[in-house]
Amino acid sequence: ALDKEQMQGLRGIREFLKVRTSYDVLPLSFRLIVLDNELLIRKSLNILIQNGIVSAPLWDSKNSTFAGLLTSTDFINLIQYYCQFPDEIDEVDNFRLSSLRDIERAIGALPLETVSVHPMRPLYEACRRMLKTRARRIPLVDVDDETGREMVVSVITQYRILKFIAVNNEKHTILLKRSVREMNLGTYSHLATADMNSSVLDVIHLMVKHNISAVPILDKDNKVLNVFEAVDVIPCIKGGAYDELASTVGDALEKRADDFAGIYTCNEDDRLDAIFETIRKSRVHRLIVVDDDYRLKGIISLSDILKYVLLFGEEEDDIRGS
Ligand code: ATP
Repeated sequence: ALDKEQMQGLRGIREFLKVRTSYDVLPLSFRLIVLDNELLIRKSLNILIQNGIVSAPLWDSKNSTFAGLLTSTDFINLIQYYCQFPDEIDEVDNFRLSSLRDIERAIGALPLETVSVHPMRPLYEACRRMLKTRARRIPLVDVDDETGREMVVSVITQYRILKFIAVNNEKHTILLKRSVREMNLGTYSHLATADMNSSVLDVIHLMVKHNISAVPILDKDNKVLNVFEAVDVIPCIKGGAYDELASTVGDALEKRADDFAGIYTCNEDDRLDAIFETIRKSRVHRLIVVDDDYRLKGIISLSDILKYVLLFGEEEDDIRGS
């Protein structure tokens, strides 16, 4: 019966995502900060920090086209470039956002697929696209009727989608009574972790190596003290202070903005309905799974949740077909 109810909930959410569009997820009024591709990278850092954001669409004003999304991955690439070519620090300081693709190439990073979706397409499609490309955020790009030009309407993230489900589809999320353990939700082996004395650079290298965006910081008893996130590198390199990357994670975490959302934990017996409840109430970016003594057990990323909600119990063929 539990399985039946769970599947009923999942199907309900999938249907909901098929009849809603990305446009529906956007608030009635919002601001969008778009950065000109010719801006100096170091200036873009200040703009992000001043506005309390961690990513922004880029605009190529020469050709009047959308030029991709600036995210913390770009800053991590820049740091890797700096590590590989330390003599070019002056050059790094004068890089413009438009040179990010060259930096990517120079360090041999896989270029991120520049995907976008039309805001009026079903939300389900945006979700599928996200899972397929591993993009954590997708720009919504429309074409202006009059000028025929591309327009970036907004950016949709995994967090916004899960929040939208949590707020508007409680009817179905309450049916999800399977526990984290039963669903095998998240990652429980080969976890990448660090301690307060690890250097920021060590943690960045871990994130690159494992292709992840957060590393739990543990004490000597494996208890979770904090989580270092990819976005935490932004204040670290503000003002071109690349030498500060050698400082410890402990020092770096003190640079977090006052409105930092905090870290969220759960245990293996928590049910998916409770996780949706947490998402409904708070700005969750991932859940750290701990035991009763706060020792690390695993990590549930938003992509793990989205993947489960969209794909669990689906036919293999269907997954490949779309
Ligand atoms: P975001 O956290 O920005 O939403 P994401 O959802 O893609 O991005 P990642 O943190 O990149 O999440 O996680 C990708 C996969 O790696 C997930 O399956 C997640 O469970 C796993 N994972 C996340 N953090 C770690 C870690 N520190 N060690 C090992 N695996 C991890």
